[in-house]
Amino acid sequence: MNLLVTGAAGFIGSTYVRGLLARPGGPRVTVLDRLTHAGTRDNLPDSHPRLEFVHGDICDPAAVDRAMARVQQVVHFAAESPADRSTEGGGAFVRTNVLGTQTLLEAALRHGVETFVQVSTDEVYGSIKAGSWPEEHPLRPGSPYSASKASSDLLALAYHQTHGMDVRVTRCSHNYGPHQFPEKVIPLFITNLLEGKKVPLYGDGLNVRDWLHVEDHCHGIELVRTKGRPGEIYNIGGGTELTNKELTSVILDVCGVGWDMVEFVTDRKGHDLRHSVNWTKARAELGYFPLHDFESGIATTVAWYRTHRAWWRALKHRVVPT
Ligand code: NAD
Repeated sequence: MNLLVTGAAGFIGSTYVRGLLARPGGPRVTVLDRLTHAGTRDNLPDSHPRLEFVHGDICDPAAVDRAMARVQQVVHFAAESPADRSTEGGGAFVRTNVLGTQTLLEAALRHGVETFVQVSTDEVYGSIKAGSWPEEHPLRPGSPYSASKASSDLLALAYHQTHGMDVRVTRCSHNYGPHQFPEKVIPLFITNLLEGKKVPLYGDGLNVRDWLHVEDHCHGIELVRTKGRPGEIYNIGGGTELTNKELTSVILDVCGVGWDMVEFVTDRKGHDLRHSVNWTKARAELGYFPLHDFESGIATTVAWYRTHRAWWRALKHRVVPT
């Protein structure tokens, strides 16, 4: 079986692909990645008998067409993120997340691809004060990033409705773990502290996120690809819900420093207060269950950043525009 994985030079996609390649008898994988500021070839093996790396843009119909011609299934990770940066301008987000997804869907349709997994985010539901969003909750994205992801989810589901294509959508809570680009909050904080620098905490630090280990997310995606149903959405959560202040406290403890290393900074525009997904559908239908507990997950993540300074130093000061 040949699988096209987009955006697998990034954090989650590379974790997913390394997992597939480690499995004896797993699928052959073609990676299509533009290598933006967030992607690095170093996240994947230099060579592997079941891996082909294609440097290309998901918005380029010719590159997508060539890559799609050889595969039966697609797992689509490539995206512009995070929400913070999208508040400074949404153009790149709409281009990659909406137009890129539509380019992939068109090619998948033309080539009769069997299954298309659209990897999305809990942020499409918007902020929720109490309780957790089920899959049928209305979409109320609060940032250009989440609006572009919501648009790409709807496009993907429309290809199922219109053409009967086997599209499956996953919506996951916030991920952490090794290989995460150091502009995201957990690796930013860890690497700042490892460099002896202060960490910037938004507003009053009371925004709440559910933190899930990246390997648990990848396990959920694999269950959706192999056991999910066409046209269905699956929330993937079950991590640890923390305020940003609580998250900061855990990272400070693991790094052995105190609150004097924290600088409170102006909150970002339109910052969602709380995200939380209800993942009972994935548990009941697919047997999904997260295995990593947060404390040991964050300790091993800090240990990884401690021992991979060359990896993050090469990325940390990359300028963002793509
Ligand atoms: P990332 O920024 O680490 O990686 C994105 C990858 O996509 C990079 O390798 C980049 O080079 C590539 N890419 C970007 N634009 C491209 C284009 N036009 N053509 C080809 N490749 C392109 O992102 P991530 O954190 O690994 O997220 C992967 C997916 O998971 C995204 O779709 C994101 O919305 C979703 N997601 C992320 C989280 C999270 O906490 N990080 C949570 C839920 C869902």
